[in-house]
Amino acid sequence: MARYTGPVCRICRREGVKLFFKADRCYTEKCPMNKHAYGPGEHGQGRKKVSEYGVQLREKQKTKRMYGVLERQFRKYFATAERAKGMTGENLLSYLERRLDNVVYRLGLAGSRREARQLVRHGHFQVNGRKVNIPSFQVRVADRVAVRDKSREVSRLKELAEATKGRQTPGWLEAEAEAMAGRVVRLPERTDVDAAIQERLIVELYSR
Ligand code: SF4
Repeated sequence: MARYTGPVCRICRREGVKLFFKADRCYTEKCPMNKHAYGPGEHGQGRKKVSEYGVQLREKQKTKRMYGVLERQFRKYFATAERAKGMTGENLLSYLERRLDNVVYRLGLAGSRREARQLVRHGHFQVNGRKVNIPSFQVRVADRVAVRDKSREVSRLKELAEATKGRQTPGWLEAEAEAMAGRVVRLPERTDVDAAIQERLIVELYSR
């Protein structure tokens, strides 16, 4: 599937929030958001009156980019969320959270969702003992996500696993730091999504 390959810090500046694409660098002084927390480009600092549609659009774009999903796939998640029981917005966030690359990131086995996506694509992970290299793979309750045996010596993965020891994971996941793995104990709920996403705005946008 296609993906965005341009400068990622520009996206954070466009959305006006840190989206943590660059792992460790995002937590340092080098993060451009510390100095240039305004839109990129010539007119980035201009005062703009944002319409209701603009606000909704930005919320959708921010969420989509945060999870590294392109428009077509995001639409598909929305359509599935609409058909499922419950609140569409919450269902949408649940589908996004259950992506394998997000789970790897949430377990601390990658420094960012972007890195998680790459590690998954490179075949470093297995789900229930079977190799899965599809970042959009949806995990289910009781699934066990783990670093594959042959990847356990990869220095970046060892470094990440070491850093994750003692770190808190969201309530719907149970980390097994020593085993470089984690288990899905229940489906994610709205309160498990720590990001300040206003899913209501996304539902309103797609309901126009
Ligand atoms: Fe965003 Fe990280 Fe770049 Fe900062 S360093 S602008 S948080 S991607």
